[in-house]
Amino acid sequence: MKVLLIGAVLSAQIFPAMANENCAICLAAMHNSKTLECGHKFHPSCIGDWLARNVNCPICRDTDITAMMEEIGKLVHESQNPNLTPEQAQEILDRLKLLQEQLQINMQ
Ligand SMILES: [Zn+2]
Ligand SMILES: [Zn+2]
Repeated sequence: MKVLLIGAVLSAQIFPAMANENCAICLAAMHNSKTLECGHKFHPSCIGDWLARNVNCPICRDTDITAMMEEIGKLVHESQNPNLTPEQAQEILDRLKLLQEQLQINMQ
């Protein structure tokens, strides 16, 4: 709990832009955003990329299983696009594998 609090204080210092509704990943202003369970907001595309490699909120490290499941759903949907190139299909597969591994680690 203490660690979480320190993290929150540090994030507030490292990411002062948060107060102005800027995306903490790319630091640009957000016109539309996605909010994680912890309340932090990011560009949908930025947090999508992040969640493909991580299970946590980039600011407070809170695990957001719901967002991950959403990301998995989106990838599965993308993978059903008949116009995908083999490279795109492989990339989606790799991301799905990563997400699944992350989820397993998290649930152990
Ligand atoms: Zn962004
Ligand atoms: Zn957070």
